[in-house]
Amino acid sequence: MTLRMAVPNKGRLNERSLELLRKSGLEMDINWGRRLYAAADNQDMEVMFVRAQDVPRFIHSGTVDMGITGLDLILEADLDVEWVLDLDFGHCRLAVAAPESAGYSSIDDIPEGAKVATSFPNLAWQFFAGRDKKVEIVRISGAAEITPHIGVADLIVDLVSSGSTLRTNRLVELDSIMHSQAVIVANPESLQTKGKEINDLASSVESVLLAEKKKYLMADIMTDTLPEVERLFPGMAGPTVMNIAGRDDMVAIHVVIDKSEVYDAVNSLKSMGAKGILTLPIDRLVP
Ligand code: AMP
Repeated sequence: MTLRMAVPNKGRLNERSLELLRKSGLEMDINWGRRLYAAADNQDMEVMFVRAQDVPRFIHSGTVDMGITGLDLILEADLDVEWVLDLDFGHCRLAVAAPESAGYSSIDDIPEGAKVATSFPNLAWQFFAGRDKKVEIVRISGAAEITPHIGVADLIVDLVSSGSTLRTNRLVELDSIMHSQAVIVANPESLQTKGKEINDLASSVESVLLAEKKKYLMADIMTDTLPEVERLFPGMAGPTVMNIAGRDDMVAIHVVIDKSEVYDAVNSLKSMGAKGILTLPIDRLVP
């Protein structure tokens, strides 16, 4: 059964989405992503390239079975789609911000009836209603940060990652409404009819995300240092130990370690007299 997927055609989420699909083993033409529509060469799968904002609607309507987009856009669309996997990129938060000159330091300082410019009217409305704050939502489609300076609004609700856009525009963050990242979501009916295909793809992507955080380390160590080396790598399943032909004094070890541990691990092995230490990237890791 053909699996149909929607992927952002441009913007912040496009490149990494395509990279994850490629690394997961989908073979695709170099021009993938510059098209509106493409089929994978080695899987029964079709991909539609659409705006990140449109992904929830295409999934909800059943035009596609699943898709990648920001959690912020899923929640704002408020349509019945099912979360499948967090993708650990596109991290940002939906924040409430006001001009420094207004002197507000929290939501409590905002006067009744303040105008809030945002391209997230639903999430903004829910947030202020939850705080019992009556505000007027001004729906815009982008560049929220300039609206307080041109008299369109008193406050903004917008996505923030580093906060540098806010600082440049002399805005201060008063509160954070939600944290967002890129996610895989699916149509609930498709999860019934094509559950295996959807989960196979999600597991492949998950194995890539795990593998990217790890390295494969190999080394020849002195046999009598083995207990010490085993203590050095208590992770996962400990090192795999192999004999080296014709050598009783040395064994080979293979181990999967966190990327962040490589520096210390190599130096420690070296100081224990290990030889032929090498680290390799891992494509996929299914624990
Ligand atoms: P696009 O408008 O196509 O670049 O995609 C916007 C999506 O990227 C948003 O809906 C978020 O999910 C994500 N994103 C991550 N960081 C930011 C940021 N600092 N500003 C806007 N969007 C961000």
